[in-house]
Amino acid sequence: MAFKKLAMITQEADGWQVPDWRRLQADLVTGVGELCERLSLRPDQIPGGADDDSAFPLRVPRRYLDLIEPGNPDDPLLLQILATGREREAVPGYNADPLDESRHTPVPGLLHKYHGRALLVVTGACAVHCRYCFRRHFPYQEHLSGGRWQQALDWLARRTDINEVILSGGDPLTLSNRRLGELLEALAALPHLRRLRIHSRTPVVIPERLDEGLAALLASPRWRATLVLHANHPREISPALAERCRALGRGGVTLLNQSVLLAGVNDDAEALASLSDALFEAGVLPYYLHQLDAVAGAAHFAVPDARARDLHAALRDRLPGFLVPRLAREEPGAGSKTVLAG
Ligand code: SF4
Repeated sequence: MAFKKLAMITQEADGWQVPDWRRLQADLVTGVGELCERLSLRPDQIPGGADDDSAFPLRVPRRYLDLIEPGNPDDPLLLQILATGREREAVPGYNADPLDESRHTPVPGLLHKYHGRALLVVTGACAVHCRYCFRRHFPYQEHLSGGRWQQALDWLARRTDINEVILSGGDPLTLSNRRLGELLEALAALPHLRRLRIHSRTPVVIPERLDEGLAALLASPRWRATLVLHANHPREISPALAERCRALGRGGVTLLNQSVLLAGVNDDAEALASLSDALFEAGVLPYYLHQLDAVAGAAHFAVPDARARDLHAALRDRLPGFLVPRLAREEPGAGSKTVLAG
């Protein structure tokens, strides 16, 4: 498969004024009709039929549409964002809570699955709705109402065996720098927390989110922060994203990436190898390649394990070991991820 580099105008490259990421985050497409019009597609070209009435509605920043090839209903970036009728198929084994997270919630807004680590669900908001999302049915309202983060912070204060906190959601980088700063300040006051990790897909769809204010927050001498990006395809590593990742790396942030292996999107050795190359050029190391979590509505993205292992072997043949992500699956109730190929 050849990857056509789409012409993308970046404000940085042209020396224009850099826009506020919040304005870009609010500049959304939420309707199938507009999406198809913007991408020169007819709804009847969409495999499975476009679905304008999904309970997990279409949501994509216009900024991301710059990366999608117009007129191509099979574009791998389009497939990640376009709600289709295939999501309505009931498939045995696929359910609303594939990782059984409701059993690992000691207090609202906090998940404790693995030794020494806890995950904070800091928001239910996302910059983009990814059709394969394993939390697409997550009951955010139960976790984020009332005192918001306080119960989770109180739990963390008591649990001195926890040394790493992971900010997740939803997407934590949809929060303003001010809100994020307040949360980081509260976490920094807990002396047993030694590592801070943030998982986010927002920079992939809005690279401008990696702004100076965020870089200043993450450069705190309190800890060395790790940002785990969620990019799935080499075309998502735009020049604007790469430039901002490199700047964050120069500021001392550790940058990793985890991808989900998705049929029709990146189940292709060339795509995955190109993704690792592009990440490395941006100063980001490939970390995990995840097998899909069995969430209802996403079964059409599943790649069989045997095929996944073959793809991983092809990556090992093409790339140095440090650019080969671990192929893994998360199993409900397991004490760690299950590595299918390392
Ligand atoms: S950004 Fe992450 S949490 Fe939000 S929809 Fe996408 S995969 Fe799900």
